[in-house]
Amino acid sequence: MLRNRIDQDANYLAELRHDIHKCPELMYEEFETSKRVQSELKEIGVQFVAGLAKGTGVLGFLPATQPGGKTIALRADMDALPIHEETNLPYASQTPGKMHACGHDGHTTILVGVARALVREEDRPNNVLFVFQPAEEGGAGGKAMCEDGVLDGRILGNKADMIYGLHGWPEEAQGEIFWKVGPMMAATNQFTIYIRGKGGHAAAPHTTIDPVVAAAQMVTSLQSIASRNVDPLDSIVVSVTSIHGGTAFNVIPEEVELKGTMRTLLAETRVFGKERIFAIAEGIAAAMGCTAEIVWTEGYPVTANEQGATENVKRVASGVIGNDRVKELAAPVMGGEDFSFYGEHVPAAFYFMGLRKPGVTEAPSVHTPRFDFNDAVIPDCVEVMCRLALDTA
Ligand SMILES: [Zn+2]
Ligand SMILES: [Zn+2]
Repeated sequence: MLRNRIDQDANYLAELRHDIHKCPELMYEEFETSKRVQSELKEIGVQFVAGLAKGTGVLGFLPATQPGGKTIALRADMDALPIHEETNLPYASQTPGKMHACGHDGHTTILVGVARALVREEDRPNNVLFVFQPAEEGGAGGKAMCEDGVLDGRILGNKADMIYGLHGWPEEAQGEIFWKVGPMMAATNQFTIYIRGKGGHAAAPHTTIDPVVAAAQMVTSLQSIASRNVDPLDSIVVSVTSIHGGTAFNVIPEEVELKGTMRTLLAETRVFGKERIFAIAEGIAAAMGCTAEIVWTEGYPVTANEQGATENVKRVASGVIGNDRVKELAAPVMGGEDFSFYGEHVPAAFYFMGLRKPGVTEAPSVHTPRFDFNDAVIPDCVEVMCRLALDTA
């Protein structure tokens, strides 16, 4: 039986997760993690192509046992973050300043677990693609995998008909799965604004054009996009996260640099928000006699879940963990996720698995030094993904 096999693998998978956790690697440097994934696939006889997405991506393929099925892609991300771990776990990061603080060690382990369980399944109506990607944390590894053709049958296997992915979620209780139709995670963008004036002696401000005062007004005015411009029932985040300018207490600097991020859930709000940031930055700079140069970098698109794929997640997860533990996510999350790139090519569903252990009221969030994935959820996650691969009609 599928579940028996998964339960027998539970210790093996927990150890695999700890091995990966010990050796965190940043975006596009997941060489050891990628090698480990490859050796795991080799050991169980799953064919794969390595070296994708600039070097560390791996695509595995397991053909159906009968003709006429669909091709289901399952995705995991492998990269860690530049955070110094403070968990004191026996399997804590052995590399100072790097840490699996987003649980991608868990996601990678789960997908290996799925391959191990499915290989031994005698009746597999669908082909399965195992997508192990690098660089989710800001490097758009998912985009690089798509560009390399992992979903088109160009690299290995067949063209994908649907893709599923999951994220561990410490804000929710261990063992509960959360789904959402439509936008689930935000589109991200980064901006840098260079405000240029005329420097001079702080005692003679009238002989300068002060970019610091312009920067202060700009930061304040940018807040009005969320509060005054965008529909209160829609969502936008505009955060200025860095201000740099000046070197001394008695010198008005020539230039101030602002950095920040904008996050949205609707495509039209993404366009509108960008227009407003440009208008406010350029308008305030002009009013203060400065100039503003804005460098805009598109991040990830909205992670939007397709209806049919999401219905499959609900149905399959309910069968595995029970109806009462499968819930609709109350509201989208304004974090970004590069799973969104796959959804631009095929119907996609992303879902959360709660990680918060029983008795814990507040678990450390992802991207913090005390976060850890939760081994207890691995078997359920493996079974849900296996059944999504087997039961998607
Ligand atoms: Zn993350
Ligand atoms: Zn993540």
